[in-house]
Amino acid sequence: MNKKEYIEKAEKNLFHVYNRFPVIFDYGRGVHLYDELDEEYLDFASGIGVMAFGYGNEDFEDALCTQVKRITHTSNLYYHIPMIEAAEKLTKASGMDKVFFTNSGAEAIEGALKTAKKFAYTKKGSGDYEVIAMENSFHGRTVGSLSVTGTEHYREPFYPLMSGVKFATFNDFGSILANLTDNTCAIIMETVQGEGGLYPADPEFLKKVRQLCDDEGILLILDEVQCGMGRTGSYYAFQQYGIKPDILTTAKALGNGVPIGAFCVTDAVAEASLVPGDHGTTYGGNPLCTAAVSQVFDMFEDYKIIDHVNDISKYFEQVLDVLVNKYDFITERRGLGLMQGLVLTVPVKEVVNRALLEEHLVVLSAGADVLRLLPPLVITEQDIDEFKKKIEKIFDSYLK
Ligand code: PLP
Repeated sequence: MNKKEYIEKAEKNLFHVYNRFPVIFDYGRGVHLYDELDEEYLDFASGIGVMAFGYGNEDFEDALCTQVKRITHTSNLYYHIPMIEAAEKLTKASGMDKVFFTNSGAEAIEGALKTAKKFAYTKKGSGDYEVIAMENSFHGRTVGSLSVTGTEHYREPFYPLMSGVKFATFNDFGSILANLTDNTCAIIMETVQGEGGLYPADPEFLKKVRQLCDDEGILLILDEVQCGMGRTGSYYAFQQYGIKPDILTTAKALGNGVPIGAFCVTDAVAEASLVPGDHGTTYGGNPLCTAAVSQVFDMFEDYKIIDHVNDISKYFEQVLDVLVNKYDFITERRGLGLMQGLVLTVPVKEVVNRALLEEHLVVLSAGADVLRLLPPLVITEQDIDEFKKKIEKIFDSYLK
């Protein structure tokens, strides 16, 4: 079957909920992807921040194969060793106390919201609890996670969503205060806004929000589904801010391509919120997925990934700054570590499309005008040089 026939078959059978690029990826090696004709693409998207170790990593594949041959699923009615080990490694890396494994980032948000509501219910009794979320945020597509996602056009067709959500302006503490009521049970935000356009939280803002939560007895939920797992140069971005959330959500690179997420809580939250019967999942944290998590954490340590991200992101930032200086239509570079964005005044969706089809460079957009770069965490200077060459060819074509 040729590419056209494959795509026709896909469109005949798949619910058309994505406008997919006309590319069929077949396999990957390192930071490169290959299509069905064996043509090579440089990947600076990592499957939207998932493939921390790139493709075809033998240590990872061996760990998965070993687990497949032992057991892939039991249920959460029983203990199993991969989950026990993965939970210990995740609590150690995050500094949180307790973990609940989910199947996705959105489900981690659902669990975080339920935990916050139950915490308030336990402490204060029944009530219509409210959550303060951020404008321009993204937390997922399920009803609960969409309810706290601050992009109106994602939410509008699906009203009524979860009630009691108020939207404040990210990095504006006054706006948080303006939305605070006696019924507020939690404040939720991304430590670095991803889909919204690569906006890191302002350190003073985050510290004040933390203090407010402590003073008012409400919970701070940090969503690190995209910015967590080493991407910004620490296991979790909040670790660079000198604060800690009450609830943390994580996913994407946690399973390096095996679908898994988690919400993590402090002991104080665990002791006064969900109890057996309040929450559950069939697949969440199954032996295959948690074996992946366990292996990911081992590889973070063995390959010294956090040190590597800190080193290589300096070079990446330098190269991106060269581009900012060279092209007038790049107005800004924003981000942290290997989560970087270039703000463009030329059409970003067109740049992404042309980079893919003309230069075989996989990149992403974010917000209305940001070229989003989330390369695998294992990239080298040579990969960054290859990226520069390819993106310059596209950028050059916009010079008058
Ligand atoms: N939270 C953030 C910050 C995200 O970036 C995403 C996905 O991009 C999600 C939550 C939802 O994760 P998932 O797509 O795994 O449901």
